[in-house]
Amino acid sequence: MNVKKAELVTSAVKLEQYPDGGRPEVALAGRSNVGKSSFINKMINRKNLARTSSKPGKTQTLNFYLINDSFYFVDVPGYGFARVSKQERQKWGNMMETYFTTREVLKAAVLLVDLRHPPTKDDVMMYEFLKHYEIPVIVIATKADKVPRGKHQKHAKIARETLRMADGDPLILFSAETGQGKDEAWAALLPFVAS
Ligand code: GDP
Repeated sequence: MNVKKAELVTSAVKLEQYPDGGRPEVALAGRSNVGKSSFINKMINRKNLARTSSKPGKTQTLNFYLINDSFYFVDVPGYGFARVSKQERQKWGNMMETYFTTREVLKAAVLLVDLRHPPTKDDVMMYEFLKHYEIPVIVIATKADKVPRGKHQKHAKIARETLRMADGDPLILFSAETGQGKDEAWAALLPFVAS
């Protein structure tokens, strides 16, 4: 995939603020610090377009990145920050629910997990949430450069089992440091965004 153009078009909290135009969307989800911004930046060949590590307390928004004028990556706020207030968590939940249940142009979701550790309870909940709404899920197990190669398959298997992944759903080992998995991730995504 040759990304010639990538721009942040909208940061939305409400449905009325989502972009028009009917272009296909892929949502990106994962717990805070998992490497979501790094994944987006690597996929679109940018150092810094997606903001790295959104801190708790900052306004949580859905960020719509338009790629090659043809489809969107939708960066959804990370979950799993222990220090976030109940009220913040509720807001986050409502925003996710609204987006995932109403967005007709949403074609697939990327769920990022950390290859070093088994998926967390929140990761499992997120996977189940996406499956519940029948959204195709591509799991990206990132930070693969931090796991010895000889252990990649073992860790991948633990991730699949912990998430109770459907056999057809792909799990791709990825590293924003080395670029491992980038071509494979694009190959998995393209069928959903090709117009
Ligand atoms: P986000 O909060 O999910 O957007 O996470 P970031 O993209 O900001 O990444 C969190 C931290 O993990 C940063 O220090 C990144 O440099 C680091 N990181 C992200 N992806 C990778 C990766 O593939 N390999 C390594 N070694 N570090 C990574």
